[in-house]
Amino acid sequence: MTTRAKKMIYLDNGATTRVLPEVFDAMAPYFLDMWGNPSSLHSHGRDAKPAVEQARKSVAALINADPSEIVFTSGGTESDNLAIKGTVMYKGKTKGHIITTRIEHHAVLEPCEYLKRFGFDVTVLPVSREGLVDPAEVEKAVRNDTVLITVMMANNEIGTVQPCREIGKIAKDRNIPFHTDAVQAIGKMRIDVKADNIDLLSLSAHKFNGPKGIGALYVRKGTKIETVMHGGGQERGLRSSTENVPGIVGLGKASEIARRDLDATASRMKALRDKMLKEVPATVPRAYVNGHMTKRLPNNAHFRFDFIEGEGLVLQLDFKGIAVSTGSACSTGSLEPSHVLLALGLTHEQAHGSLRVTLGRENTEEEVDYLLEVLPGVVSKLREISPFNERRPMGPGEGGDCVQ
Ligand SMILES: *Cc1c(COP(=O)(O)O)cnc(C)c1O
Repeated sequence: MTTRAKKMIYLDNGATTRVLPEVFDAMAPYFLDMWGNPSSLHSHGRDAKPAVEQARKSVAALINADPSEIVFTSGGTESDNLAIKGTVMYKGKTKGHIITTRIEHHAVLEPCEYLKRFGFDVTVLPVSREGLVDPAEVEKAVRNDTVLITVMMANNEIGTVQPCREIGKIAKDRNIPFHTDAVQAIGKMRIDVKADNIDLLSLSAHKFNGPKGIGALYVRKGTKIETVMHGGGQERGLRSSTENVPGIVGLGKASEIARRDLDATASRMKALRDKMLKEVPATVPRAYVNGHMTKRLPNNAHFRFDFIEGEGLVLQLDFKGIAVSTGSACSTGSLEPSHVLLALGLTHEQAHGSLRVTLGRENTEEEVDYLLEVLPGVVSKLREISPFNERRPMGPGEGGDCVQ
């Protein structure tokens, strides 16, 4: 075994990322020195307020929005909930039609499901075998009472990048608000809310080297939206609660860095991604790529292996010092494999044999090479020792962790 195995190689950046030291340093003073409440009139509060507004500018610049269109939230989940419930329930409405897709994050699917209880109708569109939403299907699904279209910008499991600009155009032409969950896309691809016809966009700091528990919702000027968090009226009434000043500063710093380094980071990750997409099926028998070969995030490689259980693969790779994730079912004993992989038309067995590798800005070619070096051996060993092959279907309670 090489010495490289001793140091942990983190290839699970789709789940979360490391806070960059620069981000951490920017946040620290807002815990220790300038810890005031931005709404206070005294000097403590006055110190915090400009930091929040500076961060708002940095987030806005990353997506070509106006700072006044940025609402700070606790993360991607809250942004999705606010975008969806806040628009469709505007002024107490309980009726209307929502269009979404089968491969959305649970933070979108669950609010849609919840809204059905009040009387909303939801169309959940299918995707192609490669995980793409067809804009023509969106167009066909539109009704007179459609109140929201929500389609993610890039998928968190298989990394497919959706044709948001076309979908946004369809929504715009019909005066329907368009929301996109861009949590995975931020920092990995260019986003322009104006050119892409986006009315609402969710983002989360911890997916691009910022801290956990902070995110934002972009709300285009003029979008009809109401709060889902009633209280003191912060964030122009859209998100009450005392601002998470250090978190907001961290999000701002992460946004600045993401914008500054976007092209270099994305092209470096893309080269490593393409190396994996090419090498894995070439060196591992019966290995396949999930998702689209090119319309995918530069940091996402997703595979499936016949006669392999994803959870075993993740544990064996962890043993070799590599952190990755599987596209298996959520924990808590669920038997259902990932809804995203099933939406591609994969069988339960195929879905269970999946592996997600997500790069971050700090990963090196050496690390990817190490994964490529150990993977064929790990897969063949698992196939040898595991009773999980053609003879034995997947048993109950064998799901993996939920992919974020
Ligand atoms: C991680 C993730 C979320 C949830 O974001 P949190 O900040 O963890 O709440 C939502 N959507 C997508 C696509 C994600 O990857």
